[in-house]
Order: sequence, then structure tokens, then C-alpha cells
Amino acid sequence: METTVIIGAGASGLLCGCELAKQQANVIILEQSNKSGRKILASGNGRCNLSNTNLDMYFYNTDDKRIEKIINDFNIKDYFNQIGVLTRQVGTLLYPRSNQSLTIKNALMNNFDQVALIEECQALKIIKRKNGYLV
Ligand SMILES: Cc1cc2nc3c(=O)[nH]c(=O)nc-3n(C[C@H](O)[C@H](O)[C@H](O)COP(=O)(O)OP(=O)(O)OC[C@H]3O[C@@H](n4cnc5c(N)ncnc54)[C@H](O)[C@@H]3O)c2cc1C
Repeated sequence: METTVIIGAGASGLLCGCELAKQQANVIILEQSNKSGRKILASGNGRCNLSNTNLDMYFYNTDDKRIEKIINDFNIKDYFNQIGVLTRQVGTLLYPRSNQSLTIKNALMNNFDQVALIEECQALKIIKRKNGYLV
């Protein structure tokens, strides 16, 4: 079975890890610092402003159709509900109902039994080989 290596345990890396863990994939996350999800915890003054209901391409400096598709197809409220996070809305802003960004980090890492998260490990080089990549 192939192993997927994710570099960086920020919001992006943890969400990728969360999705791959659902598929029982072999996953290793390398995080250079000793604080996985550091920015998640800092976001929204510790409350994590998950999203905005007023999402529109108008707010992005691109007309990239892929971005437009993500905005139109990905329902962040449903996504977090599915992984156990209840949300609350303040105006157009979406927060975890707990009002704590730690809820988001924990929910993303909830299925990490089979994910190897290695902190204080910086990826220095990625080399393409015949059968994959050497990190
Ligand atoms: C104070 C603050 C408040 C914010 N508030 C909000 C908010 O309310 N709502 C919102 O939507 N966004 C908010 N943001 C922005 C949001 O936090 C970021 O956009 C998001 O967390 C970025 O996630 P990321 O995974 O792309 O990057 P990062 O969180 O930067 O994650 C990248 C990770 O990769 C690691 N890394 C990098 N290079 C290597 C390497 N070579 N080897 C190993 N590890 C490596 C880094 O250490 C880091 O942990 C806020 C940001 C800050 C700083």
C-alpha cells in the first residue's frame, strides 16, 4: 500500500489527513514545529471564524474556474457537521458552536489513529523517483 506524506500540519494538512484517514490510507504528516494547527488555534481570536456565508468570486483576485467550483460545491458547514462540529452563525460569519478553535483542530484530528503525525520534523527535500517520491 502506498504512503501519502503531507508536509505541514496546518489547516490544509490536517484536513487532508482527516480525509485520507477516512479512507484508511497510510498517512504521515511532517510538521516542522512542535505546534500542529497553530494558526487554527489563533484564528478568529481563538474562536476560529470557519467561513463566511457571503462567498463569491467577486472577493477573489482570480477568475480561476477551479476556485469557483470549490466555492460553489464545498459546503463548509455541512462538512464540519459531518465530522462532529456544530456551528453557529453571527451575521455572515460561521464559528464552531463551542466558540473555541480547539474544537476544529480536535475534530480534524479525531480519526488520526492510523495517521503518523511527526512534529519537529522539517521536510528538506522532495526527490522524484521512478516509483514515487523520496521526502
Ligand atoms: C492571528 C490569525 C488569525 C486568523 N483568523 C482567521 C479566521 O478567523 N478565519 C480564517 O478563515 N482564517 C484565519 N486566519 C488564517 C488561517 O489561520 C490560515 O489561512 C490557515 O490556517 C492557513 O492554513 P495552511 O495549512 O494553509 O497554512 P499554515 O497554518 O501556515 O500551515 C503550514 C504548516 O506547514 C508547516 N511547514 C512549512 N514548511 C514545512 C516543512 N518544510 N516541513 C515540515 N513542516 C512545514 C508549518 O510549520 C505550518 O505548521 C488567521 C491567521 C492568523 C495568523
